[in-house]
Amino acid sequence: MTPSEALRRAYLDALGITVWEPRAARPVHVPAATEPDRQASAAGVPPAAAAGDSVAAADWETLERRVAACTACGLHSTRTQTVFGVGSRRARWMFVGEAPGAEEDRQGEPFVGAAGQLLNAMLEAIGLRREEVYIANVLKCRPPGNRDPQPHEVERCEPFLVRQIELIGPRLIVALGRHAAHNLLKTDVPLARLRGQRLSYRGTPLVVTFHPAYLLRNPADKRRAWDDLCLARRIAEAAA
Ligand code: URA
Repeated sequence: MTPSEALRRAYLDALGITVWEPRAARPVHVPAATEPDRQASAAGVPPAAAAGDSVAAADWETLERRVAACTACGLHSTRTQTVFGVGSRRARWMFVGEAPGAEEDRQGEPFVGAAGQLLNAMLEAIGLRREEVYIANVLKCRPPGNRDPQPHEVERCEPFLVRQIELIGPRLIVALGRHAAHNLLKTDVPLARLRGQRLSYRGTPLVVTFHPAYLLRNPADKRRAWDDLCLARRIAEAAA
């Protein structure tokens, strides 16, 4: 076994995977879009379009500045700092999570806590390094107590993620968990029905898999996550 193969095996072990048998992709099914949630936000907060207007054509520097200064929802008052995104701005693979947790809020970088360790292992297992992909979240600020993102928070933050994806132009997007999948695909179809197929975000192939934090709580599903990653790799290779 070569050293790199040994390393890959070690990461597969971390995922709880001992056998690797790629399987054929299942037929593509694109879920129907649902009406985005238009829940009103707190009084006095500027409309989402106002944030979106100047963000839509922003370069990286402007975008980073806009995120760091954002006060469009109440999360700005409880955050330590914003969590913009990390990785290569020329990445072929982009991973999208839900929102920063406590450690991410402290360090200002996505997926640096326990879930991040597992995400790193998942990346290594499919032959990717963290530095060569791009990792971002639907929300750029931590919801207090790690509660679920609220619809108006997602709506306010969305222009930032949209612009990040546009600037990177990835070959493939991997949505980590329900919130990322629902936000990107504008659907409320359950995660179980979104997994295992090639979906599309504005023409870019998108694969849905479990959130690493979920996998930490439900290690039996790591096998399914591995299947998702193998599907993602096949799609990425086909797009190369
Ligand atoms: N969970 C997420 O969705 N994103 C992070 O950055 C960390 C944990």
